[in-house]
Amino acid sequence: MNLIRVKRVHCLSLLACEGTRERGDLGEIRSRGTVSTNQIRLVEIFSSIQGEGVLVGRRQIFVRTYGCNLRCTYCDSPETLKESGIPRQCRVETVPGSWTFEGRESLTSQDDLNAIIRGYLTEPHHSLSITGGEPLLHARFLREWLPDVKAMGLKTFLETNGFLSRHLEGILDSLDYISMDWKAPTATGISPEATLEAHREFLMTATRRGNTEVYVKMVVTPSTSEAELLTAVETIRAVKDSMTLILQPVTPFGTETKGVTPQKMIRFHALASHLLQDVRVIPQTHKMMQLL
Ligand code: SF4
Repeated sequence: MNLIRVKRVHCLSLLACEGTRERGDLGEIRSRGTVSTNQIRLVEIFSSIQGEGVLVGRRQIFVRTYGCNLRCTYCDSPETLKESGIPRQCRVETVPGSWTFEGRESLTSQDDLNAIIRGYLTEPHHSLSITGGEPLLHARFLREWLPDVKAMGLKTFLETNGFLSRHLEGILDSLDYISMDWKAPTATGISPEATLEAHREFLMTATRRGNTEVYVKMVVTPSTSEAELLTAVETIRAVKDSMTLILQPVTPFGTETKGVTPQKMIRFHALASHLLQDVRVIPQTHKMMQLL
């Protein structure tokens, strides 16, 4: 598989095959503790307003998983990455919007997670967002747990970097929404060929089930080129030309210190709209409101 040749992908064993991928990621964690299919390592749980993508403005419960197979220049969740160490604690916001947290053991059982979620359900929520990190690294847990989420009356929303299509297969039936990030090679260091192959395969898998709404989100940085945009657009179009593409101007963070000019966003929107039916520019609105 081309991905194995990529230089800057961390945890290369994740990219060989599904079984190896999961062993490659979780082996380290298992060797230190007791991760089983009814436990998941989390870094954050909270209730907020979705600030990105097609569900912007919807009330959601967010479950942020630990670990990622990529290292994007604009990553705003560095606490989910392995360099930050295996987390001992998961922070849980006690009152939505308060930025007041209680620390809990990071390794969380299905029952404990359900109890925390029920605690938020005194107020109506549209859906539950599984975010990260890369949630699909925890596909075996998700397969067991997502039916519980639906039984609580919540729709399920997966945010993913779109590289682990085989992990997706096992949980696709339990997903109402998939937000797939299109990762520009200039942001990940992964070769254009490997990126294209991984994202095309992922989108084809994701759209196999007609009842799951799938859209693509592309973070646009000052380095993102028109060629990268067009590669994404043509691939999306080949899979499904009615699929929504969200162009998200980068919020400066980490090594990304500059934003994108308005002219660039207008030009990118026009280029994409020649080939796709539904292209939207949406920045990270939760950050404007100082929400988690
Ligand atoms: S895929 Fe997401 S969590 Fe992983 S490095 Fe990129 S931005 Fe961060």
